[in-house]
Amino acid sequence: QAKARGRNCVVVFDDAMHHQATERLDTELQLRHALGRGELVVHYQPVLELPSGRVAGVEALVRWQHPVRGLLTPSAFMELAESTGLVVSIGEWVLETALAQVQRWRTSLPGGAELTVAVNLSARQVAAPDLTGLVRRVLDSSGIDPAAVHLEMTESVVMNDGAVYVDVLTELRALGVGLSVDDFGTGYSSLSYLKRLPVDTLKVDRSFVDGLGGSDPHDRSIVVAVLSLASALGLQVVAEGVETDAQLRELVALGVRSAQGYLWKRPVAAAELGPWLVERTQRTGR
Ligand code: C2E
Ligand code: MG
Ligand code: MG
Ligand code: MG
Repeated sequence: QAKARGRNCVVVFDDAMHHQATERLDTELQLRHALGRGELVVHYQPVLELPSGRVAGVEALVRWQHPVRGLLTPSAFMELAESTGLVVSIGEWVLETALAQVQRWRTSLPGGAELTVAVNLSARQVAAPDLTGLVRRVLDSSGIDPAAVHLEMTESVVMNDGAVYVDVLTELRALGVGLSVDDFGTGYSSLSYLKRLPVDTLKVDRSFVDGLGGSDPHDRSIVVAVLSLASALGLQVVAEGVETDAQLRELVALGVRSAQGYLWKRPVAAAELGPWLVERTQRTGR
């Protein structure tokens, strides 16, 4: 009986693996066409100034409106996009779309003239030839002030081969854009790279914001350490993933000046965020 079950298990496992491989191939084929078919969308999440609560800008976050599976977040397709290299063309499209959108808001929304936009870059994009040329072209075609644009990279992206990226990042900074280290504190990197790289902002990972407001004293210590590191190096800090009033109170008490999270707004399509921005600006001023 055990043997029969064993054999069954093997069969089930094989089927599951086959199914998984087929699904991956399907997804890959569909992702190849998603851009051309207009299935990718950019959602925007506001980034707020603390303690005023004024909107400083937005972060652009890509979504895939899949014809069958519905709206997919990056966890469902970005790994595949990265491993196939599709992330390079997707990333270019996100950059164009987000900069154009935010420039429209800057010129048309009451109180929107100072809005900033943050766009995430993947490892492949940073390693691709002429990222600087691409960013320059997109800045030009959108007409947005480069100082209003922040490019976000995780530690693993900037650290992959520090020596190579110093050049690229220095070129990007020379265009006038800001550079942020995303998910800060979750990588394995030594901190010495921060001194060598021309970054100007650290985004404190959501996993550390999580325990603020009393539930985890270690998270508080980590955020305090990041703040003191940032201040020593002259870097700005943004807290990610703020969900509760208790977390917000503690961030304000610690002196954090910038945050984003579900507490204020989840990432949504431009058509939904536009009116929200107007309404919010009427209440908090700018
Ligand atoms: P990220 O850049 O760290 O973006 C923040 C993520 O946290 C987003 O997930 C956002 O929806 C989520 N988030 C924001 N506030 C809260 C909160 O209060 N609670 C919780 N639980 N989550 C919150 P999302 O949109 O699923 O994106 C995941 C990651 O995918 C991003 O992390 C970024 O690394 C990557 N990504 C997104 N868009 C792009 C893109 O256009 N290009 C590249 N290369 N990567 C992207
Ligand atoms: Mg980000
Ligand atoms: Mg992050
Ligand atoms: Mg992330």
